[in-house]
Amino acid sequence: MAEPIVSLKDVVVSYREDIALRGVSLNINEGEMMGIAGPNGSGKTTILTVVNGLGRLEYGEANVLGYQMKAGRRGRSFRLNSRIAQMRKMIGYVPQGALIDPRVPVNVREAVMIGRYGLIGLFRYPAKTDWEKVDRLLEMVDMSHLSDRPFGHLSGGEQERVAIARALAQEPRILLLDEPTTGLDWRSRVEILNIIEQVHKERKLTTLLVTHDPQDTFNICDRVVLLKNGLIAALGPPKEVLSEGNLKAVYGDRQSETSRRS
Ligand code: ADP
Ligand code: MG
Repeated sequence: MAEPIVSLKDVVVSYREDIALRGVSLNINEGEMMGIAGPNGSGKTTILTVVNGLGRLEYGEANVLGYQMKAGRRGRSFRLNSRIAQMRKMIGYVPQGALIDPRVPVNVREAVMIGRYGLIGLFRYPAKTDWEKVDRLLEMVDMSHLSDRPFGHLSGGEQERVAIARALAQEPRILLLDEPTTGLDWRSRVEILNIIEQVHKERKLTTLLVTHDPQDTFNICDRVVLLKNGLIAALGPPKEVLSEGNLKAVYGDRQSETSRRS
């Protein structure tokens, strides 16, 4: 079998007194759509940070796209850091929340073009072919009709689509999405998940979809990992992992929680 494109082995990450990951091992195969679910604070974003080469490993190792990261090695040498910068060019990242300050006067097309600057070079102008690629991406995320609209005037769901297009403009091999559905209404949420599934297939990506709501992973993920307190509580196809027992173990019994509070 082929090597996994992402491989975490016994990864421990902590922020001062908080331990965010307590020994996480996880292999992700090329082309896979992997869901990462769990309650707030369970370590989801920290996993994305590690894959993206920005996590400081306290223990264990991470292998991403053939680049190896080990505990205690980051920040030690220029050569190592430039290798990781190379790796990071192949990873598209859609952070949680607003992508661009809504007061910054850029329109939708320009916001997506920002994603191409790593390829174009910061001090050169985009060529006609770069704009064509951006317009193709706007079609893909169904935003062509709003391409001239100021970014700050978009709804949450529309901003999310632009954020996805911007990450794709970099032409990544791995796409990291941090809570792309949080705060969206039901309809926009279904639309975003459909778009994610479509770009994953069309672009032949490996995708990591982080969500606090495991329901999001049900129809579109090949596998899902359920996190609890920085540890993997369950891992496998959504149909198996999202059992009532597993969800109760990870999220607690919501019914009894509400009755306890009242
Ligand atoms: P999730 O994305 O699942 O909500 P995170 O990976 O962001 O979880 O966080 C895991 C744990 O690490 C939490 O306890 C959180 O408070 C802590 N943490 C995350 N980022 C930081 C940070 N920058 N500084 C201190 N603690 C942090
Ligand atoms: Mg998070």
